[in-house]
Amino acid sequence: MGSQETSVLALKKKTVTLTPKAIIHQKFGANAVYKVEEVQKSDGNECPGLNLPQKGPCLYRCSLQLPEVSVVSELCKKKKDAEQSAAEKAIEKLGINPTLSIPTAQEAGDEVVGRLSYLFSDAFYTTVHPLSGHFRAALLRKDHLYGYVPVSVLSLFDSKLINLCKCMNPKAEYNTWLVVPLILKAASRVPLLISENHLSMRRPSPYPPEVLEGIDNSNLPESICIKAVRVPCSIDEIVEPLLLNVSINEYYLDVIAQELGVTDASKVLVSRSVGKASSETRFYFCAPQSYMLNVSLESGEELTNEPEGTLNTRASYLSGQNVYGDAILASIGYTWKSTDILYEDVSLRSYYRIVINKMPDGVYKLSREAILAAELPIAFTTRSNWRGSYPRDILCTFCRQHRLSVPEIIPLENSEVPGLHKKLKLTDSREQETNGGSLAGSAAGVGGTFKCEIKIISRSQELILWCTPKESFKKQSDAIQDAALKILTWLNNYFKNPKMSVENLTTSAHEIDIQFYPRCFKEFELCLVVNNTSRLLNSDCLSDNTDSVNDSDDMSGVSLSTGSLACISYSIYLLAGDCGKELLERSEEFEFEIGSKAVFSHLEAAVTKMSVGQSVSYKAEVLSRELIMSAATDSERILSLLNSGGCSLEYSITLLRVTEPLEERMEQALFSPPLSKQRVEFALQQIKESCAASLVDFGCGSGSLLESLLAYPTSLENVVGVDISQRSLARAAKILHTKLTIKTEAGSDQIKSAVLYDGSITTFDSRLYGFDIGTCLEVIEHMEEDQAFLFGDVVLSFFCPKVLIVSTPNFEYNVILHKSTVQGQEDDPDEKNQSQSSKFRNHDHKFEWTREQFNDWASKLAERHNYSVQFSGVGGVDGVEPGYASQIAVFRRGGDNFPENVNTSHHYNVIWDWSSSSSSSMIKDFQ
Ligand code: SAH
Ligand code: MG
Repeated sequence: MGSQETSVLALKKKTVTLTPKAIIHQKFGANAVYKVEEVQKSDGNECPGLNLPQKGPCLYRCSLQLPEVSVVSELCKKKKDAEQSAAEKAIEKLGINPTLSIPTAQEAGDEVVGRLSYLFSDAFYTTVHPLSGHFRAALLRKDHLYGYVPVSVLSLFDSKLINLCKCMNPKAEYNTWLVVPLILKAASRVPLLISENHLSMRRPSPYPPEVLEGIDNSNLPESICIKAVRVPCSIDEIVEPLLLNVSINEYYLDVIAQELGVTDASKVLVSRSVGKASSETRFYFCAPQSYMLNVSLESGEELTNEPEGTLNTRASYLSGQNVYGDAILASIGYTWKSTDILYEDVSLRSYYRIVINKMPDGVYKLSREAILAAELPIAFTTRSNWRGSYPRDILCTFCRQHRLSVPEIIPLENSEVPGLHKKLKLTDSREQETNGGSLAGSAAGVGGTFKCEIKIISRSQELILWCTPKESFKKQSDAIQDAALKILTWLNNYFKNPKMSVENLTTSAHEIDIQFYPRCFKEFELCLVVNNTSRLLNSDCLSDNTDSVNDSDDMSGVSLSTGSLACISYSIYLLAGDCGKELLERSEEFEFEIGSKAVFSHLEAAVTKMSVGQSVSYKAEVLSRELIMSAATDSERILSLLNSGGCSLEYSITLLRVTEPLEERMEQALFSPPLSKQRVEFALQQIKESCAASLVDFGCGSGSLLESLLAYPTSLENVVGVDISQRSLARAAKILHTKLTIKTEAGSDQIKSAVLYDGSITTFDSRLYGFDIGTCLEVIEHMEEDQAFLFGDVVLSFFCPKVLIVSTPNFEYNVILHKSTVQGQEDDPDEKNQSQSSKFRNHDHKFEWTREQFNDWASKLAERHNYSVQFSGVGGVDGVEPGYASQIAVFRRGGDNFPENVNTSHHYNVIWDWSSSSSSSMIKDFQ
C-alpha cells in the first residue's frame, strides 16, 4: 500500500536522522549500558521555606557506560531524551562521525552474518535478550522441528539485526517483511541448518550440557489458557473470540500456527505491536505461499519482495503494516530470562477498544470511560471545564497510531504573528491567504496574547495538514489545546463521512482554519475502508421516545446554560427484543460541559430539560458495533444479542448537580479592567489613604491580591495572608517568593516580611493583631452565613485592624451577568421564569447577598465593635440599578481605645515566611 512509495524518501532521510542512541547501538550493541535515574526538579520553580510537600515534575539523568568511556546526560524531562543526550555526549567524546557510522549495504550484510552466528552461539544462549525465550523454547519442539527458530521472530526481536537490514535495504524501514529475506540471504553464509520451507533455522550441533544447565525452566502451571481474537481476512466476517491452550512444554508459536491451520511456527509471521505503545499485542498470520517461494530463491536473486496474498484490511489497518489472510490477535511473549510465558487476555472488548482508539473521538471516549455517552467536544473553552484526555495528547496518540511524525506544535505570541509566515517555507498560494486571514484574526483575538499553529507531518516528512487558528488565548496552553482540537474535529468528520466530496472537505477545513494536502487521503486509505464498512449506523440518532422526558416539570431554579457543568449518573442498556436487557455502561458521576457537544446530542437534550435530582429513561438507536463492544464487559453475550438483531439502547440518567460557569470567567469577560483588578485598585487606594505599613489578607487564596500589591510602590512593609486551602497557599507561596526575589534583586526592598498562614479566619491568632489594613475580598460568601457573621465579630473584636475592607458579590447584579453570558438563550421561552430565580455566580458560594442584606450585616457589625463603615463597590455605577457587581464595605476603627494587651494565642500554621533581612524564606516553628 502507501508505504512502498514513501519509503523511497526514507533513503535520503536516513543518512541524516540516525539518533545518537542508534549510532551508539550500531557501534557497541549490548556493550552500551544505560542507567536512568530520577532527579527531583530544582530549577528555581520550587519555593524555599514552603512548609508543604512540593511535588515538582520529575527529571531524568542518564549515565551511559561504554567499554571506553562513560558519560552522564543533561537533565531531561523524559527518560528517552536523557538517554539520547547521554548517547550524544558519548559520540562527542569518542569523536565518532555520525555520517561515517552508517555501514554500506555490503558491510551491513557482513555484519548480519556475524550477528547470526552470534545468536546461535553458546554464549548467546545464556544471555538475557528478547530472543532468549524463543531460543530456549525451540529446544522444546519435537522431532524434526527441534531447535529450529523461526526467522520471523529473529526479524522482530533483535534490533541489531533489524537495523542492519535497514542499512541493506532502506525500504525495510517501512516494510518490516523485507527483513526476513535479508536475514535468510545472510544465513546462507553461516553454518546453519535452514528448514525445508526456508522460514526457520537452527544450529547444526546441539548445545553442550553445561550451557543448557542453569536455565531456570519455569514455575508456571502445566498449561495456560489465553484469550485471543480471530480477525478474519474478509471484512464481512465478524471478529470472534478464541482460546489458546499453551502447555508448558511446547512453543507458543506452534500453538498459534495450529490455530491458523498450518503445521508449525516457521510458517507464521508476526506483526509489530498494536494498541498501547508498550504492548506485546500482535497479529499472527500465515506467511502467504508466494512469500515462502520468494524468500527461498537462491541468493543472487533480488530478495526485496514482500508477501503477496489477500490483504486483511482490519489487521493491516490496526498494525499499520500489511497482514495477509486470517489473523489472530494475541498478547503473548517470553520473559527475557526464561521460557516463562508472559501474556494478557485479548478479549473482543480489547480488540474493539484498539479499533476505536484509532479515532480521535474514540481516544477521547476511552479516556473518559464513557464510550456510549461522551463525544469529543467541539470547543475547548477552559481547562477547568475540560474532562478526559487533553486534545494535544489525543492528537499525539492519533499521530502515533497512524504512523505519522509527532505533530509540530508552534506556539506564537501575538506580536510575532505578522512576521511569522515569512519564516515558513511553503511554496503554494497559502502565504497570501493566511496573511489576509490573519488580519481579520487579530481583530477576532482581542484580549488574548497567544496563538498556536500545528502541523501534521507524515513519516516521510511531508506536510499533510496545517492548522492556523485565528483565535487568541490568554494562556499559551489553551491556544495549543484549541488548535489540536480543531484538527481532531476535522479528522473525525473526515473519517466518519468518507463519501464527502473534496470540495466539502476543503470548505469544512477552511472554516476551522485548516489546510490539508491531498496526500492526506493516502495516509488514511485503510482507515476509510475499515470505517466505511463498520459505521453503517449513524451514531447519533434519537428515537422519538424522548418524549418521556417531562417538559412541563418544574425547573426548581436550575437552568442549564452554555458553559455550565452538568453532573449525572447514568446506566446504558442494550435492549434486545424478547432476549431481555443487558447493562453496557454505567457511571456514578459523569460531568460534562453543556453546549460544547461533549456528549451525544440526545443525552444533552435530555439533561437540559431536567432539574437536579430528577431521573429519566429513554430509548435511543443502537450505536456501531465498535462502540457497543468496546463498552460491554460480557462481550460474548452482547455479541450474540447484537447478532440477533432488532436491538436498541436504553439510557437511564439522573441529574446530580449543576455547576455554573465560573465566576472568574464572567468577571474577566464583562469588566474592563477585570473585577479582580478593580478590587486591587480599590485596596491600593485605601492603603495610600491610610499610609498602611502592615496588611493582612483574610482568605488570600492563591495570593493574587498580595502579588498585585507588590507590583506597586506602597507604604507596606509587612504583609500576611491566611487561608484554609493548602493548595492555594502553596501556589501563593511560589508566586510571592518569585516576586519578592525579583524585587530584592532589583534593590527595591520596601517589603520587610511576608508570611502565609494556614488557618480559619473565624479563629483568632494573635500574630495578626492590630494590623493597619485587613482585606477580605470575595471570601465571606464561601462560608456558611453564620460563619460569615462569626468572622465579622472575630475580626473586629480580636484582630482589630485599623481598616477592614470586605467585598462580596451583589446578588442583585446577577441578572445582568446572566443575561450577558448565557448565549443563545433569547429563543428559550423559559428564560423569563429562570431569571426570577437567578442562581449564584460560583458553585462554591454558600450565599450571595443583596445590597440590603450586606448593608444590614455590615452596619450592625460596625456598631457592635465601635467601627464606622462606608459602602462602595466595583463594577457598575454607584446609584444606578442594580448597584455594583461587587459590593464593598470599608470599616474604620473608632478611637484608639482598643485592647492593647492580647493573649498570645497561636492557632495558625506558618506555611511560608519570607523576610528581607535574610532575604530568604524559612520555615518557622509552626506550633
Ligand atoms: N481573596 C481571594 C480568594 C477568594 S476565593 C481573591 O480575591 O482572589 C475564597 C477563598 O476563601 C478561598 O481561597 C477559600 O479557601 C477561602 N476561605 C473560605 N473559608 C475560609 C475560612 N474559614 N478561613 C480562611 N479562608 C477561607
Ligand atoms: Mg467568590
